[in-house]
Amino acid sequence: MSNVIEVHNLQKSYGQEVAVGGVSFSVQKGEIFSVVGPNGAGKSTIIETIIGLRKADGGQISVLGLDPQQDARELGNRIGTQLQQAALPDRMKVWEALDLYASFYERTIPWEPLLEQWGLGDKRNAQFGNLSGGQKQRLFICLALLNDPEIVFLDELTTGLDPQSRRATWELVTAIRDQGKTVVVISHYMDEVEALADRVAIIDHGQLIALDTPANLINELHGETKVHFTSSNGFELNLLSAVDGVTSVSQDNNHITVSGHGSLLARVAAVLAQQNVAPADLRVEHPSLEDVFLKLTGKTIVN
Ligand code: ADP
Repeated sequence: MSNVIEVHNLQKSYGQEVAVGGVSFSVQKGEIFSVVGPNGAGKSTIIETIIGLRKADGGQISVLGLDPQQDARELGNRIGTQLQQAALPDRMKVWEALDLYASFYERTIPWEPLLEQWGLGDKRNAQFGNLSGGQKQRLFICLALLNDPEIVFLDELTTGLDPQSRRATWELVTAIRDQGKTVVVISHYMDEVEALADRVAIIDHGQLIALDTPANLINELHGETKVHFTSSNGFELNLLSAVDGVTSVSQDNNHITVSGHGSLLARVAAVLAQQNVAPADLRVEHPSLEDVFLKLTGKTIVN
């Protein structure tokens, strides 16, 4: 796999404050690469330096073999960005925004199919201010794709969207990757990154604290699976403690949590069946990227 972005020992301070304290990673062609971490971790500074909007204090950056500062013009034609702070005048029509952005590039693709693909086909004459949050977000993604970029940078793309729109957006982002483009996603939502990213860079306090596929990060955690259920008729909790792989059993009123390793759900269900207990809400909770972050930093990401 070839690398389309290479970052080596990137450093950036604002006055006395170190925003990025020596970060190195590379992004491979054709992957969805996510930069995740809490607010203030340094994600935007890293990305804005990579795309040439900010100048690093130290380190080397190469994007598509180019230097973001010296080759800004060529790079601008080959990457697409949807940045968080982007805004358009409320009265600007969708087609006017696309025409305006098209004028920034040397080469663009026809935007009608793009609007269709992103579910905005009937919005070409709508004013920006009358679009819903999700529609505005999708318009910004269309604007980022207008120059048929090799790398697309998407920043906090589902903030403020309802769960259904978030999932729909993830599918479309995956479709961008499947067209052969590289996608860099900045997010402070661990569930988003877990669902979307091929590889994840976890950033905290301006440092890279982990980099791998979501599955590898979760596996390395050796985290416990939890089985939850409620039971109104009391029974011997010791029977569950004795189940193969179980490390602990806890009870909070009617709610019982069994923690452990291996195929816990099947084993717990078998014991319950033996005892003639039929819980309506038996469910399993697998370790997540949230747990990885907690393990690495001792804190949860506060959204
Ligand atoms: P994130 O994108 O992860 O929220 P940022 O890169 O925006 O993090 O910010 C990293 C740190 O740098 C934060 O402490 C933030 O307050 C600070 N910072 C960001 N931009 C500026 C700026 N223009 N001037 C001064 N401090 C900044």
